[in-house]
Amino acid sequence: MRVFNFSAGPAVLPEPVLERAAAEMLDWHGTGMSVMEMSHRGKEFISIADKAEADLRTLLAIPADYEVLFLQGGAIAENAIVPMNLLGAKKIADYVNTGEWSKKSIKEAKKYCSVHVAASSEDENFTYVPPQSSWKLSADPAYVHVCTNETIGGVEYQWTPETGAIPLVADMSSHILSRVFDVTKYGVVYGGAQKNAGPAGLTLVIVRSDLLDRALPITPSAFHWKEQAAADSMVNTPPTYAIYIAGLVFDWLLAQGGIAAIERKNIAKASLLYDYLDTTRFYTTTARKADRSRMNVCFRLHDESLDEGFLKGAKAAGMDQLKGHRAVGGMRASIYNAMPIEGVRALIDYMKAFEQSHG
Ligand code: PMP
Repeated sequence: MRVFNFSAGPAVLPEPVLERAAAEMLDWHGTGMSVMEMSHRGKEFISIADKAEADLRTLLAIPADYEVLFLQGGAIAENAIVPMNLLGAKKIADYVNTGEWSKKSIKEAKKYCSVHVAASSEDENFTYVPPQSSWKLSADPAYVHVCTNETIGGVEYQWTPETGAIPLVADMSSHILSRVFDVTKYGVVYGGAQKNAGPAGLTLVIVRSDLLDRALPITPSAFHWKEQAAADSMVNTPPTYAIYIAGLVFDWLLAQGGIAAIERKNIAKASLLYDYLDTTRFYTTTARKADRSRMNVCFRLHDESLDEGFLKGAKAAGMDQLKGHRAVGGMRASIYNAMPIEGVRALIDYMKAFEQSHG
Protein backbone atom coordinates (compact mmCIF):
# COMPACT_ATOMS: atom_id res chain seq x y z
CA MET A 1 0.00 0.00 0.00
CA ARG A 2 1.31 3.49 -0.86
CA VAL A 3 1.55 5.96 1.98
CA PHE A 4 1.35 9.74 1.92
CA ASN A 5 5.06 10.50 1.84
CA PHE A 6 5.93 13.91 3.30
CA SER A 7 9.69 13.49 2.86
CA ALA A 8 11.74 16.60 2.07
CA GLY A 9 13.70 14.69 -0.56
CA PRO A 10 14.16 12.26 -2.12
CA ALA A 11 10.43 12.72 -2.17
CA VAL A 12 7.09 11.55 -3.49
CA LEU A 13 6.88 11.18 -7.28
CA PRO A 14 3.68 11.24 -9.36
CA GLU A 15 2.15 7.78 -9.45
CA PRO A 16 1.56 7.84 -13.25
CA VAL A 17 5.30 8.45 -13.66
CA LEU A 18 6.21 5.44 -11.56
CA GLU A 19 3.65 3.30 -13.36
CA ARG A 20 4.97 4.29 -16.76
CA ALA A 21 8.56 3.66 -15.68
CA ALA A 22 7.50 0.24 -14.41
CA ALA A 23 5.73 -0.58 -17.68
CA GLU A 24 8.79 0.49 -19.68
CA MET A 25 11.35 -1.06 -17.35
CA LEU A 26 12.30 -4.15 -19.35
CA ASP A 27 11.61 -2.91 -22.86
CA TRP A 28 11.68 0.79 -23.68
CA HIS A 29 9.65 1.48 -26.84
CA GLY A 30 10.46 -1.84 -28.51
CA THR A 31 14.23 -1.59 -28.04
CA GLY A 32 14.26 -4.74 -25.93
CA MET A 33 16.22 -3.00 -23.20
CA SER A 34 15.77 -0.80 -20.18
CA VAL A 35 16.74 2.88 -20.39
CA MET A 36 19.33 2.04 -17.72
CA GLU A 37 21.05 -0.31 -20.14
CA MET A 38 21.29 2.07 -23.10
CA SER A 39 24.34 3.91 -24.34
CA HIS A 40 24.05 7.58 -23.52
CA ARG A 41 25.27 8.30 -27.05
CA GLY A 42 22.71 6.13 -28.84
CA LYS A 43 19.83 7.76 -30.70
CA GLU A 44 17.27 6.32 -28.27
CA PHE A 45 18.73 7.92 -25.18
CA ILE A 46 19.54 11.14 -27.02
CA SER A 47 15.86 11.37 -27.98
CA ILE A 48 14.94 10.97 -24.29
CA ALA A 49 17.38 13.68 -23.17
CA ASP A 50 16.38 16.07 -25.98
CA LYS A 51 12.70 15.72 -25.13
CA ALA A 52 13.38 16.23 -21.42
CA GLU A 53 15.27 19.42 -22.18
CA ALA A 54 12.64 20.69 -24.62
CA ASP A 55 9.84 20.02 -22.12
CA LEU A 56 11.74 21.72 -19.30
CA ARG A 57 12.27 24.73 -21.56
CA THR A 58 8.54 24.83 -22.29
CA LEU A 59 7.55 24.44 -18.64
CA LEU A 60 9.82 27.20 -17.37
CA ALA A 61 9.78 29.37 -20.53
CA ILE A 62 13.57 29.20 -20.72
CA PRO A 63 14.81 31.53 -23.47
CA ALA A 64 17.25 30.37 -26.18
CA ASP A 65 20.12 32.36 -24.68
CA TYR A 66 20.10 30.09 -21.61
CA GLU A 67 21.80 26.71 -21.50
CA VAL A 68 20.08 23.80 -19.75
CA LEU A 69 22.56 21.34 -18.25
CA PHE A 70 21.84 17.92 -16.76
CA LEU A 71 24.73 17.35 -14.36
CA GLN A 72 25.65 15.33 -11.30
CA GLY A 73 26.83 16.23 -7.82
CA GLY A 74 23.64 17.79 -6.48
CA ALA A 75 23.22 21.27 -5.08
CA ILE A 76 26.03 20.68 -2.59
CA ALA A 77 28.47 20.24 -5.47
CA GLU A 78 27.03 23.39 -7.09
CA ASN A 79 28.05 25.31 -3.98
CA ALA A 80 31.63 24.89 -5.24
CA ILE A 81 30.81 24.76 -8.95
CA VAL A 82 29.08 28.17 -8.89
CA PRO A 83 32.11 30.16 -7.70
CA MET A 84 34.46 28.13 -9.88
CA ASN A 85 32.39 28.98 -12.95
CA LEU A 86 31.49 32.57 -12.17
CA LEU A 87 34.36 34.27 -10.37
CA GLY A 88 36.45 35.13 -13.44
CA ALA A 89 38.92 37.78 -12.29
CA LYS A 90 36.73 38.87 -9.37
CA LYS A 91 37.53 38.05 -5.77
CA ILE A 92 34.24 38.63 -3.97
CA ALA A 93 30.80 37.07 -4.20
CA ASP A 94 27.72 38.24 -2.28
CA TYR A 95 25.42 35.84 -0.44
CA VAL A 96 22.08 36.31 1.29
CA ASN A 97 21.87 34.07 4.34
CA THR A 98 18.37 32.74 4.99
CA GLY A 99 19.16 29.47 6.76
CA GLU A 100 20.81 26.07 6.73
CA TRP A 101 21.23 25.75 2.96
CA SER A 102 22.49 29.30 2.54
CA LYS A 103 24.99 28.65 5.32
CA LYS A 104 26.30 25.59 3.50
CA SER A 105 26.62 27.57 0.26
CA ILE A 106 28.52 30.33 2.04
CA LYS A 107 30.87 27.92 3.79
CA GLU A 108 31.78 26.20 0.54
CA ALA A 109 32.19 29.41 -1.47
CA LYS A 110 34.74 30.65 1.09
CA LYS A 111 37.14 28.03 -0.27
CA TYR A 112 37.20 29.91 -3.58
CA CYS A 113 36.63 33.58 -2.82
CA SER A 114 35.82 36.18 -0.20
CA VAL A 115 32.18 35.98 0.73
CA HIS A 116 30.28 39.12 1.59
CA VAL A 117 27.01 38.41 3.40
CA ALA A 118 24.73 41.08 1.93
CA ALA A 119 21.82 40.28 4.25
CA SER A 120 20.96 37.69 6.85
CA SER A 121 17.94 36.61 8.87
CA GLU A 122 20.09 34.98 11.54
CA ASP A 123 18.98 37.68 14.00
CA GLU A 124 15.56 36.01 14.09
CA ASN A 125 16.70 32.44 13.73
CA PHE A 126 16.16 32.36 9.96
CA THR A 127 12.40 32.77 10.17
CA TYR A 128 12.11 35.32 7.37
CA VAL A 129 13.56 36.54 4.08
CA PRO A 130 15.41 39.85 4.48
CA PRO A 131 13.67 42.42 2.25
CA GLN A 132 15.80 43.69 -0.57
CA SER A 133 15.75 47.21 0.92
CA SER A 134 17.94 45.85 3.74
CA TRP A 135 20.54 44.20 1.49
CA LYS A 136 23.99 45.74 1.42
CA LEU A 137 25.76 44.51 -1.68
CA SER A 138 29.54 44.84 -1.96
CA ALA A 139 31.08 47.19 -4.51
CA ASP A 140 31.87 44.72 -7.27
CA PRO A 141 30.71 41.16 -6.56
CA ALA A 142 31.01 38.39 -9.15
CA TYR A 143 27.39 37.45 -8.41
CA VAL A 144 24.69 37.49 -5.74
CA HIS A 145 23.60 34.10 -4.41
CA VAL A 146 20.24 33.31 -2.83
CA CYS A 147 18.47 30.15 -1.72
CA THR A 148 14.90 30.85 -2.79
CA ASN A 149 13.35 28.08 -0.70
CA GLU A 150 15.00 27.02 2.55
CA THR A 151 13.95 23.39 2.80
CA ILE A 152 14.88 23.02 6.46
CA GLY A 153 13.54 26.30 7.86
CA GLY A 154 10.47 26.42 5.62
CA VAL A 155 11.10 29.96 4.39
CA GLU A 156 10.50 30.94 0.75
CA TYR A 157 11.00 34.05 -1.36
CA GLN A 158 7.62 35.22 -2.62
CA TRP A 159 9.32 37.87 -4.73
CA THR A 160 12.24 38.09 -7.13
CA PRO A 161 15.37 40.01 -6.14
CA GLU A 162 16.58 42.68 -8.55
CA THR A 163 20.35 42.80 -8.89
CA GLY A 164 20.68 44.76 -12.12
CA ALA A 165 23.87 43.90 -14.00
CA ILE A 166 25.16 41.63 -11.24
CA PRO A 167 24.25 38.01 -12.04
CA LEU A 168 21.67 36.61 -9.63
CA VAL A 169 22.29 32.95 -8.75
CA ALA A 170 19.59 30.88 -7.09
CA ASP A 171 19.56 27.51 -5.39
CA MET A 172 15.97 26.51 -6.21
CA SER A 173 16.39 22.84 -5.26
CA SER A 174 13.21 22.53 -3.25
CA HIS A 175 10.76 24.69 -5.19
CA ILE A 176 11.79 24.66 -8.83
CA LEU A 177 8.80 23.61 -10.98
CA SER A 178 6.37 24.41 -8.14
CA ARG A 179 5.65 27.99 -9.17
CA VAL A 180 6.00 30.33 -12.10
CA PHE A 181 9.17 32.41 -12.08
CA ASP A 182 10.93 34.62 -14.60
CA VAL A 183 14.13 32.88 -15.66
CA THR A 184 15.41 36.08 -17.27
CA LYS A 185 15.83 37.69 -13.84
CA TYR A 186 18.48 35.11 -13.01
CA GLY A 187 21.98 34.47 -14.32
CA VAL A 188 21.98 30.95 -12.96
CA VAL A 189 19.31 28.69 -11.47
CA TYR A 190 20.25 25.30 -10.09
CA GLY A 191 18.77 22.52 -8.03
CA GLY A 192 18.91 18.86 -7.20
CA ALA A 193 16.13 16.93 -8.91
CA GLN A 194 15.01 14.87 -5.95
CA LYS A 195 12.10 17.05 -4.79
CA ASN A 196 9.94 18.21 -7.68
CA ALA A 197 11.80 16.91 -10.72
CA GLY A 198 12.69 13.27 -10.23
CA PRO A 199 15.15 10.99 -8.52
CA ALA A 200 18.39 11.93 -6.78
CA GLY A 201 21.50 11.93 -8.96
CA LEU A 202 20.44 14.61 -11.44
CA THR A 203 21.26 18.28 -10.98
CA LEU A 204 19.50 20.88 -13.09
CA VAL A 205 21.55 23.92 -14.06
CA ILE A 206 20.11 26.75 -16.13
CA VAL A 207 22.74 29.32 -17.03
CA ARG A 208 22.71 32.43 -19.22
CA SER A 209 25.11 31.91 -22.11
CA ASP A 210 27.04 35.15 -21.64
CA LEU A 211 28.21 33.91 -18.21
CA LEU A 212 30.03 30.90 -19.64
CA ASP A 213 33.40 32.63 -20.05
CA ARG A 214 34.19 33.19 -16.41
CA ALA A 215 35.35 29.78 -15.18
CA LEU A 216 38.53 29.48 -13.13
CA PRO A 217 41.23 27.35 -14.80
CA ILE A 218 40.97 24.81 -11.97
CA THR A 219 37.31 24.02 -12.80
CA PRO A 220 36.96 20.25 -13.38
CA SER A 221 35.65 19.39 -16.85
CA ALA A 222 32.63 17.53 -15.48
CA PHE A 223 31.64 20.72 -13.62
CA HIS A 224 32.69 23.23 -16.27
CA TRP A 225 29.45 24.72 -17.55
CA LYS A 226 30.87 25.89 -20.88
CA GLU A 227 32.42 22.50 -21.63
CA GLN A 228 29.26 20.73 -20.54
CA ALA A 229 27.09 23.06 -22.65
CA ALA A 230 29.26 22.40 -25.72
CA ALA A 231 28.99 18.63 -25.12
CA ASP A 232 25.22 18.56 -24.44
CA SER A 233 25.98 17.61 -20.80
CA MET A 234 27.95 14.58 -21.98
CA VAL A 235 31.51 15.46 -21.02
CA ASN A 236 30.97 12.54 -18.67
CA THR A 237 28.27 9.87 -18.70
CA PRO A 238 25.15 11.70 -17.55
CA PRO A 239 22.74 10.21 -14.99
CA THR A 240 20.71 8.59 -17.74
CA TYR A 241 17.97 6.93 -15.74
CA ALA A 242 17.42 10.02 -13.58
CA ILE A 243 17.12 12.13 -16.74
CA TYR A 244 14.58 9.66 -18.13
CA ILE A 245 12.44 9.81 -14.98
CA ALA A 246 12.71 13.61 -14.85
CA GLY A 247 11.51 13.60 -18.46
CA LEU A 248 8.46 11.59 -17.44
CA VAL A 249 7.84 14.08 -14.61
CA PHE A 250 8.06 17.00 -17.08
CA ASP A 251 5.60 15.18 -19.33
CA TRP A 252 3.25 14.71 -16.37
CA LEU A 253 3.57 18.40 -15.47
CA LEU A 254 2.64 19.44 -19.00
CA ALA A 255 -0.39 17.13 -18.83
CA GLN A 256 -1.40 18.84 -15.55
CA GLY A 257 -1.56 22.12 -17.46
CA GLY A 258 2.00 23.31 -16.83
CA ILE A 259 3.52 25.29 -13.98
CA ALA A 260 0.75 27.88 -13.58
CA ALA A 261 -1.77 25.08 -13.05
CA ILE A 262 0.43 23.16 -10.62
CA GLU A 263 1.14 26.41 -8.76
CA ARG A 264 -2.58 26.92 -8.18
CA LYS A 265 -2.78 23.45 -6.67
CA ASN A 266 0.27 24.12 -4.53
CA ILE A 267 -1.26 27.35 -3.23
CA ALA A 268 -4.46 25.49 -2.35
CA LYS A 269 -2.56 22.74 -0.51
CA ALA A 270 -0.32 25.11 1.44
CA SER A 271 -3.22 27.44 2.34
CA LEU A 272 -5.26 24.53 3.65
CA LEU A 273 -2.49 23.44 5.98
CA TYR A 274 -1.37 26.90 7.14
CA ASP A 275 -4.97 28.05 7.65
CA TYR A 276 -5.50 25.07 9.90
CA LEU A 277 -2.21 25.68 11.76
CA ASP A 278 -3.31 29.28 12.37
CA THR A 279 -6.45 28.12 14.16
CA THR A 280 -4.72 26.05 16.82
CA ARG A 281 -2.29 26.69 19.65
CA PHE A 282 -1.54 23.01 20.00
CA TYR A 283 0.71 23.35 16.97
CA THR A 284 2.87 26.39 16.26
CA THR A 285 4.70 27.67 13.19
CA THR A 286 7.92 29.64 13.16
CA ALA A 287 8.29 31.19 9.70
CA ARG A 288 6.94 34.69 9.19
CA LYS A 289 3.56 34.50 7.46
CA ALA A 290 4.63 36.43 4.36
CA ASP A 291 7.66 34.21 3.86
CA ARG A 292 6.19 30.79 4.55
CA SER A 293 7.24 28.03 2.21
CA ARG A 294 4.52 26.42 0.13
CA MET A 295 6.66 23.32 -0.24
CA ASN A 296 8.04 22.69 3.25
CA VAL A 297 5.55 23.38 6.01
CA CYS A 298 7.42 23.42 9.33
CA PHE A 299 5.51 23.26 12.60
CA ARG A 300 5.97 22.21 16.20
CA LEU A 301 3.84 20.54 18.82
CA HIS A 302 3.40 22.84 21.81
CA ASP A 303 4.77 20.03 23.95
CA GLU A 304 7.88 18.41 22.48
CA SER A 305 7.42 15.29 24.58
CA LEU A 306 4.49 14.39 22.33
CA ASP A 307 6.64 14.39 19.16
CA GLU A 308 7.39 10.70 19.17
CA GLY A 309 3.77 9.68 19.70
CA PHE A 310 2.68 12.10 16.98
CA LEU A 311 5.06 10.55 14.45
CA LYS A 312 4.18 7.01 15.46
CA GLY A 313 0.46 7.66 15.13
CA ALA A 314 0.96 9.39 11.77
CA LYS A 315 2.88 6.43 10.43
CA ALA A 316 0.18 4.04 11.61
CA ALA A 317 -2.36 6.21 9.77
CA GLY A 318 -0.39 6.02 6.51
CA MET A 319 1.59 9.28 6.73
CA ASP A 320 5.35 9.01 6.68
CA GLN A 321 8.47 11.20 6.98
CA LEU A 322 6.96 14.08 8.97
CA LYS A 323 9.91 14.52 11.30
CA GLY A 324 11.61 17.91 10.97
CA HIS A 325 15.27 18.19 10.02
CA ARG A 326 17.62 17.39 12.89
CA ALA A 327 19.08 20.92 12.69
CA VAL A 328 15.78 22.53 13.75
CA GLY A 329 13.61 19.75 15.21
CA GLY A 330 9.82 19.78 15.23
CA MET A 331 7.79 18.57 12.27
CA ARG A 332 7.96 19.26 8.56
CA ALA A 333 5.36 18.34 5.98
CA SER A 334 6.92 18.59 2.54
CA ILE A 335 4.06 18.93 0.08
CA TYR A 336 5.72 18.91 -3.31
CA ASN A 337 3.93 18.82 -6.67
CA ALA A 338 3.24 15.10 -6.47
CA MET A 339 1.54 15.27 -3.04
CA PRO A 340 -2.21 15.16 -3.71
CA ILE A 341 -4.50 17.48 -1.74
CA GLU A 342 -6.00 14.32 -0.21
CA GLY A 343 -2.65 13.83 1.55
CA VAL A 344 -2.89 17.30 3.09
CA ARG A 345 -6.51 16.68 4.14
CA ALA A 346 -5.52 13.36 5.73
CA LEU A 347 -2.72 15.10 7.64
CA ILE A 348 -5.03 17.82 8.95
CA ASP A 349 -7.62 15.23 10.03
CA TYR A 350 -4.91 13.32 11.85
CA MET A 351 -3.56 16.49 13.50
CA LYS A 352 -7.03 17.47 14.70
CA ALA A 353 -7.66 14.02 16.14
CA PHE A 354 -4.24 14.01 17.81
CA GLU A 355 -4.93 17.39 19.37
CA GLN A 356 -8.30 16.19 20.63
CA SER A 357 -6.81 13.16 22.30
CA HIS A 358 -3.73 14.95 23.73
CA GLY A 359 -4.82 18.58 24.11
N1 PMP B 1 19.93 23.17 -1.22
C1 PMP B 1 18.67 22.95 -0.84
C2 PMP B 1 17.72 24.10 -0.81
C3 PMP B 1 18.26 21.65 -0.50
O1 PMP B 1 17.00 21.43 -0.11
C4 PMP B 1 19.18 20.59 -0.57
C5 PMP B 1 18.80 19.17 -0.25
N2 PMP B 1 17.82 18.98 0.67
C6 PMP B 1 20.49 20.87 -0.94
C7 PMP B 1 20.82 22.17 -1.28
C8 PMP B 1 21.50 19.79 -1.04
O2 PMP B 1 21.24 18.99 -2.12
P1 PMP B 1 22.10 17.69 -2.47
O3 PMP B 1 22.14 16.85 -1.24
O4 PMP B 1 21.35 17.07 -3.58
O5 PMP B 1 23.45 18.13 -2.88
